Amino acid sequence: MMCGMPSTPLTGDLGTTYARVGAALDLFLTEDRPDPVTRRAEWTGALEQPLPERGVGSDATVTELLDVVVPNGTRVSDPGFWGWIVTGPSTVPAAASAAALIAAPHRYSITASNLVEDLSLRWLAELCGLGAHMRGVYSSGGSTANLVALGAARQWAFEQRGRDVARDGVDGTPLALYASAEVHHTIQRSAGVLGIGRSQVRMVPVDADLRMRPDALEELIARDVSDGVVPVAVIGTAGTTNTGAIDPLRSVGEIAHRYGAWFHVDGAYGLPGSLDDRVRPLYDGLELADSAIVDPHKWLGVPVGTGATFVRDRELLRRAFTQEPADYLAPQENSDADAQTSLDAMGVPYADLGVELTAPARGVAVWAVLRELGREGMAARIRQDDDFARRVADEVRAHPRLELLTEPTLSIVCFRYAPGHGVDDDELDALNAELVHRLHLSTPYIPSTTRVHGVLAIRPCFVNSRTTDEALDGFTDTVVAFGDALIAARP
Ligand SMILES: *Cc1c(COP(=O)(O)O)cnc(C)c1O
Repeated sequence: MMCGMPSTPLTGDLGTTYARVGAALDLFLTEDRPDPVTRRAEWTGALEQPLPERGVGSDATVTELLDVVVPNGTRVSDPGFWGWIVTGPSTVPAAASAAALIAAPHRYSITASNLVEDLSLRWLAELCGLGAHMRGVYSSGGSTANLVALGAARQWAFEQRGRDVARDGVDGTPLALYASAEVHHTIQRSAGVLGIGRSQVRMVPVDADLRMRPDALEELIARDVSDGVVPVAVIGTAGTTNTGAIDPLRSVGEIAHRYGAWFHVDGAYGLPGSLDDRVRPLYDGLELADSAIVDPHKWLGVPVGTGATFVRDRELLRRAFTQEPADYLAPQENSDADAQTSLDAMGVPYADLGVELTAPARGVAVWAVLRELGREGMAARIRQDDDFARRVADEVRAHPRLELLTEPTLSIVCFRYAPGHGVDDDELDALNAELVHRLHLSTPYIPSTTRVHGVLAIRPCFVNSRTTDEALDGFTDTVVAFGDALIAARP
């Protein structure tokens, strides 16, 4: 190892720089900030400059970063942010991620970060109840994780028919995927990318609780099979994005296998929900999964850019995603055991198990948060988020002008302001959309909206580790007050 290299004047030292950044972020998280849009002219004016011919140097750059960029960031890390399914990382995974950026800018070679990549995937499989036989690979998020899982499904389906589809391409056989009407649309995109076709994703009808209907699934598959269409995979969702519904995994998985189809479970959001023993029984049948995904950047609160795919056999992933050996990656051919330096081998061949080569050592942040909290601590966090959704549901049920649209399964609750007679659904949709807009404009409460059973719903989704009970105080009262005001102002 080379030692004593002088630091160049361009780099600055990390200790002082990170200390400044850390202090600014603590302030960002705690002070009352106006929404960045209210001072858009200010930061746009300060930042919109031509490409600098001469740099201003490290000090001035960090000052500008902390004065202009950081304070005008998003509201995603605010305690009252409950929109979509996205959250800011908590402190330890954020720090771990920052550390990995320097100590392990990528996930390869025989290093602690490479070990932690695999270890954290094993921990994650165990944490989410997938079983020790499931082996994983990280990618940038649920979109890529689903693509990788369905790439494995496609490889497997063709191998059953004697074709290496990754090597030789698709052959015109009509293929189909099956998912509930509530499925995340990254499944359709995966079907498009994989040559299956977005239009070949069959939308299986759901029941009153928005769960896939196994009878309807079986009917669709049987019809396809008799028409000569190959059922490649059935996708069960463990925690839908709209409402947190969990498909009946056992029935769905059994039907998939009966027809020779792969069973994939999309648990991008909801897989860690099995840590709450009140809902764990709904995950019955998860062990039938041939692949599953989870997004540590959702409920586990690690930095955005972290999804994980699990399969029974990573060799299948390798056959589906290999780039074939390359001259510029010689260490890839070497065995880890014989390495005399960290550079002699690559460690687990992640580059051939998905669609990314150079990629961050994401496992460091996942390892860190699981080390920090343990299974118990993470379960307590998940349970608390589920409790938040139940608390909102209780408040909604108790108020005559609020209507509960879905009982929370996990940490999502859907409801609306509905003052009763004389206001039809179209008007209610517009009113509730405007109501949520006003919440965003003038309150700390930031839910998103979706449509449930055809109507517009106010949808808080609790995955934010900075949310506390106090952050919920006044939320439903404010919804009622805003709804009343909108009704009073009707022409
Ligand atoms: C969020 C989500 C995805 C997509 O994941 P990204 O990380 O946003 O790419 C896929 N499936 C489900 C169920 C999700 O909730």
